[in-house]
Amino acid sequence: MTAPPFDVLVVGASLAGSAAALVLARSGANVAIVDRSPFPRPKACGDLLSPDGVSALSRLGLEGAVRAAGAATVRRFVLVRPDGRRLAGRLPAPALSLSRERLDVLVLDGARAAGAAAFLGEAVTAIEGSLDAGFTVRTGARTLSARAVLGAWGRYSPLDGRLGRPFFGAPAPLFGFKTFLAGAAGRRLDDRVALHLFRGGYLGLSLVEEGRVSLGALATPAVATEAHHDLERLLARLRAESPALAADLEGLAPEPGPALVSEPVHLGVRQAVLGEILLAGDAAGVVDPYTGAGMALALRTGESAGTLLARHAAGEVLSPALGAEWERRWRDATGRVYFFSRLFRPVFLGGAATRLVVPVAGPLAGLAARLTRGPA
Ligand SMILES: Cc1cc2nc3c(=O)[nH]c(=O)nc-3n(C[C@H](O)[C@H](O)[C@H](O)COP(=O)(O)OP(=O)(O)OC[C@H]3O[C@@H](n4cnc5c(N)ncnc54)[C@H](O)[C@@H]3O)c2cc1C
Repeated sequence: MTAPPFDVLVVGASLAGSAAALVLARSGANVAIVDRSPFPRPKACGDLLSPDGVSALSRLGLEGAVRAAGAATVRRFVLVRPDGRRLAGRLPAPALSLSRERLDVLVLDGARAAGAAAFLGEAVTAIEGSLDAGFTVRTGARTLSARAVLGAWGRYSPLDGRLGRPFFGAPAPLFGFKTFLAGAAGRRLDDRVALHLFRGGYLGLSLVEEGRVSLGALATPAVATEAHHDLERLLARLRAESPALAADLEGLAPEPGPALVSEPVHLGVRQAVLGEILLAGDAAGVVDPYTGAGMALALRTGESAGTLLARHAAGEVLSPALGAEWERRWRDATGRVYFFSRLFRPVFLGGAATRLVVPVAGPLAGLAARLTRGPA
């Protein structure tokens, strides 16, 4: 006997996918999530959840659990140039900082507690079908069927290649790095995120749970190659160039284990609908990490896609209208964020505009923090 199809199958159980599954399951839809990784799993990310993301968590009913898991509150930012000149400001509202190992599990657990099924440690290798005929989704271990599919597989997956997405296999414009640092000196980051700019990239530092410090960096291929894709080497170079960074890192040591190097990072808008698959989070578009808006967008677009797909499952939104309706909602929710994230990119990613950093970037960072928030 074949299993009845799921109303929705969500590919990717991270923030976008689990937020969508949580909303769908709460609405009574029959939903499953599939992820290639078992959870918790490491994630190349700066771990700072912006005020918009905190609001999304609160709507999902998860803010309390995230605070209880030890998330640090962050109200201020400081932007530092290699010559040590710095500009500080207040975020528009408090942000939260928690390792992705903890945060992602809490959102996934929220979806499971609401009734979503989860298949973890299974990569999706093929998605076939249509809204009319139904979809077939294959992993190495099973074949699942669903009336609709939400793609939330992040910024770069072999699945993108199989589905013919043009950025897959193209030269990587940027790479991400991530590690955790330990040491009592991390307390000097209390209540603030520090963004250090360097030639060809930037690096963020913030406290997460239990006094650990999260370090996330974004770098051009030239910088990554020069450091042999090795974060220790990159940090040695940056410490030598920037006494301010050396001072922020003083007394902190990397936790045991290798640093993470992310998949290639292709920034910018992609598409909210691929064939008849709806997309959310980084799978639909990748916002510049300096905005600290990526996780918030993942939660918000996941939540919004879940709401729309629940109406589709209930027969309130018909299949022919689903794709266009999602495109419209996605654009409304994200357009402003992408516009301003692109606009300020040269200031944060080097080139001639970097020299503007002190006169302009302080106000810009404050402005960017406001402008790259989603619509109220
Ligand atoms: C260096 C760097 C620093 C950053 N710092 C911040 C920050 O401080 N704050 C912030 O808000 N944002 C930050 N971001 C952005 C943030 O990490 C992303 O926007 C966010 O993780 C997107 O969430 P998502 O749910 O869309 O995708 P992801 O979190 O990438 O999750 C995608 C999931 O899909 C799964 N998957 C992939 N392929 C398959 C497959 N074939 N089958 C099944 N599952 C699959 C993966 O295992 C993964 O769990 C940063 C990004 C970078 C590169």
